[in-house]
Amino acid sequence: MEKLIELDKKHFIHPTSSIQQQQENGAKIIVDKGEGIYITDVNGNVYIDAMSSLWNVNVGHGREELAEAAAEQMKKLAFSSTFSTFSHKPAIKLAEKIASIAPEGLNAVFFTSGGSESNDTAIKLVRHYWRIQDKPERRKIIALRRGYHGVAAASTSATGIPEFWNMAGNMMTDFHHANTPYENGTDKAIASLRQVIEAEGAETIAAFIAEPVQGAGGVLIPPVNYFKEVRKVCDEYGILLIADEVITGFGRTGTMFGVENWGVRPDLLSFAKGVSSGYVPLGGVIVSDEIYNILKEKSKGTLFHGYTYSGHPTAAAVALKNIEIIEREGLVDNARKMGDELLKGFGRIKEELDIIGDVRAIGLLGAIELVEDPKTNKRFSPDLQVSAKVIEALHNRGVICRAVTYEGTDIICFAPPLIMNLSQVDSLIERVYGAIKEIREELTI
Ligand code: PLP
Repeated sequence: MEKLIELDKKHFIHPTSSIQQQQENGAKIIVDKGEGIYITDVNGNVYIDAMSSLWNVNVGHGREELAEAAAEQMKKLAFSSTFSTFSHKPAIKLAEKIASIAPEGLNAVFFTSGGSESNDTAIKLVRHYWRIQDKPERRKIIALRRGYHGVAAASTSATGIPEFWNMAGNMMTDFHHANTPYENGTDKAIASLRQVIEAEGAETIAAFIAEPVQGAGGVLIPPVNYFKEVRKVCDEYGILLIADEVITGFGRTGTMFGVENWGVRPDLLSFAKGVSSGYVPLGGVIVSDEIYNILKEKSKGTLFHGYTYSGHPTAAAVALKNIEIIEREGLVDNARKMGDELLKGFGRIKEELDIIGDVRAIGLLGAIELVEDPKTNKRFSPDLQVSAKVIEALHNRGVICRAVTYEGTDIICFAPPLIMNLSQVDSLIERVYGAIKEIREELTI
């Protein structure tokens, strides 16, 4: 372990992490293997992977079927291009499969290697869509505050968490952010969206992008009418709607795609993570029939957009098997049922402890907000580092979780694998209760 930590410090720049802290403290948990909902570190400590790693290992760890699907495909044809007039069976079959489970009217897929590339692709596609219809001025993108869309150029700019812009300065122009319903409910959020549209001029706006449930922003579940209102506003102003389903896709919220909860059809839908449960990197964008028809009709010459790994055959073979598992094992239903149990458990914790504000879950995507005073929702002083301490206490109880402390919140997020069973949910709840109680007792409020 010591040797690994030294090498890690010397050679490995970690993504989304503090380089300084890494140098001071070293890697804390070096994960060695995974099985079901559990991961084990190099010292043999076992943890519930209550985040499905990065909200992505939907079918759980250690699935031999997926390893076999990859091995079989690699032996046959590990890689081949899908550029230009080349194609291959795994990508064709995966595109067809995804079209068959996507919301109605979305039937054509562009493949990428992950969520950031998917959102950059969606943003370039919507601008292209307007350009080929002689409306190049429609290029602005509206996104939501606290939204997270990735770290490529356009997806960083769409992200509504300014810390992500700081690394290199706000990367692109023509991105604007509206308030979320988390802040003040649907009406105010819709008013904010309208205000941005009107201030910028509807005829300059290409699309609105949002996550059906904001993940990295703190698992912010919108009120049930929010997306219906968004769809109405988009239609009124002729603005395209992009659903970023990178977290919510492939069963996470108890429906195959998150938008199904809200009864709306987006014009484009970006996905990644759960499509392959993280066993291989894969993502993509599904576009509506209307958009695909316009592209077919008016996009002349080469579409100068494509990644070497767009439609990677090994990734596609694994994703096909992964979707087969999700369907065969009824994991979408299971996510809904176990999500209800998780929420009940959160409710029990809230009754017992006086530092719990809102608790929420939709499928197996949930959160507990820690507050100094649940009656007024007064937040803790950031100096107290309450959520960092809870995360640490959870580690000590064998649970890997994540906290969102952006804008002074203390939100503990949960996105366990969709294969959770009832006794595992109970065990998770018991540990979460123990961890929060321990930190509550240390506080002198
Ligand atoms: N969109 C959402 C909603 C995400 O949560 C993420 C990653 O967490 C991304 C996009 C970016 O995906 P990736 O990290 O695969 O590039």
